[in-house]
Amino acid sequence: MKDAHGWVKIAGLGPGDDLLVTPEVRAALSEATDVVGYIPYVARISERPGLTLHASDNRVEIDRSRHALKMAAEGRRVVVVSSGDPGVFAMASAVFEALENGPLEWRDLQIDVLPGITAMLAASARAGAPLGHDFCAINLSDNLKPWSLIEKRLRLAAQGDFAMGFYNPRSKSRPEGFVKTLEILQQECEPDRLILFARGVSTPQEELRIVALSDAHPDMADMRTVVIVGSSRTRIISCDRGPILYTPRFTPDPAEPQPAAGDHP
Ligand code: SAH
Repeated sequence: MKDAHGWVKIAGLGPGDDLLVTPEVRAALSEATDVVGYIPYVARISERPGLTLHASDNRVEIDRSRHALKMAAEGRRVVVVSSGDPGVFAMASAVFEALENGPLEWRDLQIDVLPGITAMLAASARAGAPLGHDFCAINLSDNLKPWSLIEKRLRLAAQGDFAMGFYNPRSKSRPEGFVKTLEILQQECEPDRLILFARGVSTPQEELRIVALSDAHPDMADMRTVVIVGSSRTRIISCDRGPILYTPRFTPDPAEPQPAAGDHP
C-alpha cells in the first residue's frame, strides 16, 4: 500500500564546498531515509542512524531513478543527489524520464527539484564575471548525442558571440573531442579570445587558469574541469591579487556610432 508520506527530492550539492550547499538541501538530507546517487556524490553525505546510502556507478541514471521512485512509493523519503545543480546535465531529467515511462501511480508522488550552484557559475564567480553578458552551456560529452550536433552548436554559439561554458570537456575514453573543440574555436574566434580552465572549483584541489585561445592545449581540461570561453568582449583587469576576468554588460550596436565613455554606467 502506498504511504502518503513518501517523497523524492532531487538535490544539487553544489561544486564541492559545504558552504555552497543550500539550507533547503541540508534540510532535505536531514529528513531523508535514503540517499541515492553516483558514488563520489553519495560519499559527500554524512552517515547517521536511520539513513541508508545507495551509491551506484555512473551511467545507470535511469535504474537509479526508478529505484528512488519505487522507494518513495513505498513511503520512504528519498534524496537523489547530483553535484552542482540537479537540472544541469544531471539527475533531475533522468528521474522525470523514469517517471514518464513508469507506472502511472508514481505520478501521485511528491517530487521536488532543489537547485544547487552549478559548476560554471561557481567558476565564473571565482574568476570575476565572464558570464556577465549573454552566455550558453554545452555538454561536450557525445555519450547522449551525436558529435555533429555538438560541432553545430559550438560553431553557432561562437558566431553568435556567446560566452560558453563547457561541461564534461575531456574524458580518457574520448580525448579527441576536446582537440576538435579547440580547432573549431580557432576557426571561429580570434587567437586572443580568453579561455578559463577551472578545475575542482571550491575544493582543496581548485586550480584556475586563464589563457588566450592560441595558447590553449587539450590537456588543460579533464573531467573535473569546467571551461569558460569568453565572448569577443571578455577582458582581463590586472590586479595585484591576480587577474579579474569579466564581460561588460554593454555591447555596442555595430550599426551605430560608438557612445562616449561614461554614457553607460
Ligand atoms: N550537475 C553538475 C554538472 C554535472 S556534469 C553541475 O551543475 O555542476 C559534470 C561536469 O561538471 C564535470 O565534467 C565538470 O565539467 C563540471 N564540474 C562539476 N563540478 C565541478 C567543479 N567543482 N569544478 C569544475 N568543474 C566541475
